[in-house]
Amino acid sequence: MKAPLVADIKRNALDDGPGIRTTVFFKGCPLRCVWCHNPECTRAAAELAYRHERCLGESCRRCRARCPTGAICGDGPAQIARARCDLCGACAEQCPSAALEVIGRRYAVDELVETLLVDVPFFENSGGGVTLSGGEPALFAEYTGAVAAALRARGVHVMIETCGDFDADRFETHLLPHLDLIWCDIKLVDPVAHARYCGRDNTRILENIRRLSRAGTPPLLLRVPLVPNITATDENLRAIARFVADLGHDRIGVMPYNPLWHGKALGLGRAPAYTRATSMSAAERKRCRDALGELAIVGDL
Ligand code: SF4
Ligand code: SF4
Repeated sequence: MKAPLVADIKRNALDDGPGIRTTVFFKGCPLRCVWCHNPECTRAAAELAYRHERCLGESCRRCRARCPTGAICGDGPAQIARARCDLCGACAEQCPSAALEVIGRRYAVDELVETLLVDVPFFENSGGGVTLSGGEPALFAEYTGAVAAALRARGVHVMIETCGDFDADRFETHLLPHLDLIWCDIKLVDPVAHARYCGRDNTRILENIRRLSRAGTPPLLLRVPLVPNITATDENLRAIARFVADLGHDRIGVMPYNPLWHGKALGLGRAPAYTRATSMSAAERKRCRDALGELAIVGDL
């Protein structure tokens, strides 16, 4: 079982489930949502991230001196010729301001579990635990299931944040038995719109949601990322509300749009595919709330 790459381990997370949590962000996702808030997690391979706002520029230039392939150039802020970069990490080791970072590290199952168990006192005092996120943790169901099983054997609450696009049989065999809670996205009901904005249609996602809803355990919360003019249209939100209510759910999670991800995409050498640069207004939020009808709202709307 090959370990996937981990992009980040975020401690003291307050928005990734109940209580204080430690969230593991895995690299690799089957979708390519144009608004993805975690662009560093979409590709399964390691990547070099550059945060230009931290760079000391001309007064430093250590990265240029250390790069063995000549991949970094530019007189002021670094410019990275990514085709020449072999991800050796020499530049990041030398960078005094942590402007450069190779994203993606493998952990053996035991190593990751021990890293996460350090936070058990916080979990116990707050009703928290570990959240498996990404990227798509169910892409690596054998590995993430082994991590979840080991954590639960030590009394840790484990949940997953998933895009829903996973192989149901592998998920149910390896991961589902070791989860206490599932948060699953539902983005767009129309399959053509889903393919256009998320890179694949939603047939498998909707079927997985039906299957998880029928099973009834562990608890399932469906959540909508509210993206203006894409998912946050009245038509889509009403369709989601109908779909969710028909499955017997009486609440829905919401994640209002936040443009902070643009900087992360640029730092990975990618131009944001969705360019709205402002958060949602109070009026937009109210319209979304109204469109979701009778469902109880979980989240800040
Ligand atoms: S990771 Fe290595 S090859 Fe890539 S830019 Fe940095 S020093 Fe150069
Ligand atoms: S080593 Fe870091 S701070 Fe210095 S020029 Fe390179 S990226 Fe900027």
